[in-house]
Amino acid sequence: MENKYDIRNEPADSEDKELEQKLRPLLFDDFRGQFKTVENLKVFVKAARMREEALDHVLLHGPPGLGKTTLANIIAHEMRVNIKITSGPVLDKPGDLAGLLTGLDEMDVLFIDEIHRLSSVVEEYLYSAMEDYKIDIMIDKGPGARSVQLKLNPFTLIGATTRSGLLTSPLRSRFGINSHLEYYDSVVLNQIIKRSAKILDISITEEASVEIAGRSRGTPRIANALLRRVRDFAQVKGHGGIDMKIAKYSLEALNIDKNGLDEMDNRILLTIIEKFSGGPVGISTIATSIGEDAGTIEEVYEPFLIKEGYLKRTPRGREITRLGYKHLGRDMKDGQNLLF
Ligand code: ADP
Repeated sequence: MENKYDIRNEPADSEDKELEQKLRPLLFDDFRGQFKTVENLKVFVKAARMREEALDHVLLHGPPGLGKTTLANIIAHEMRVNIKITSGPVLDKPGDLAGLLTGLDEMDVLFIDEIHRLSSVVEEYLYSAMEDYKIDIMIDKGPGARSVQLKLNPFTLIGATTRSGLLTSPLRSRFGINSHLEYYDSVVLNQIIKRSAKILDISITEEASVEIAGRSRGTPRIANALLRRVRDFAQVKGHGGIDMKIAKYSLEALNIDKNGLDEMDNRILLTIIEKFSGGPVGISTIATSIGEDAGTIEEVYEPFLIKEGYLKRTPRGREITRLGYKHLGRDMKDGQNLLF
């Protein structure tokens, strides 16, 4: 398991980035899944357009690769406005933020990815911008320095975060629209793969697409990445098209877990079985023994493991389910490896 290929950590080369851009839906109607969130956003966008006002600020939260950036782009596109994209760690000085904000036209969207990583000075600076469309800027230095208030055009801030638990409450309360993105089921992922295959002009059979969907960890970004890698195998080892045989061969060669779990998922499950007799065990104890942050496990990894039924949350901590043991080929009673 050590050398397990982790498609989530694969460094994207520029071709991959370009393809990802190409595969990004531009309209709500091309965005699959997340039905409730999308239905609500459609209503809010329509209402804002009817009133000719900027859309209220939107917070999108959920694990990586589920479509937060995509939705932000769609919102801007459907509002017929421009979008400026930045991220929490990049904005380290209030001046950087001021530059972006003053450059926004009426009703434009400012998208801040990883908004939980904003520094507190920049965050505080954002409050008045979000609330009153005003910012204070300092002009001159030394004894002549004074602060001047600047009026901004009404705009929409869209913040994305994988770690909503790290957001301060003053920031969180300034978002009028708050949407959580869920993992996708394989039926929707199958539709996404078929749509991407069509855009990339790849022929793929229904069953091969279903197979890839089932191994994509509920995540469109992984589904698209797998499709591209399987296409490489199909080109070199097969006849170009993707059928079940080449899909299975490629997924095997890529070391993709048959249930779509990645290395970290398996490490979490294995640690609970081997070190804590399958649980129940507290999240911070698990985090310490894995060397990962407890909040990241809780918000980024665990939801998928719980959704798929490998792990459950009990009042006394996390516990491996029968399916979790079965997935790792372990005996439920004593955690013994059944495979060797
Ligand atoms: P996040 O910002 O949540 O990390 P992205 O918006 O960057 O995720 O999505 C990753 C990729 O997955 C995008 O290139 C996009 O093509 C694809 N994608 C995400 N959600 C969907 C969806 N609902 N339908 C189709 N493609 C999607």
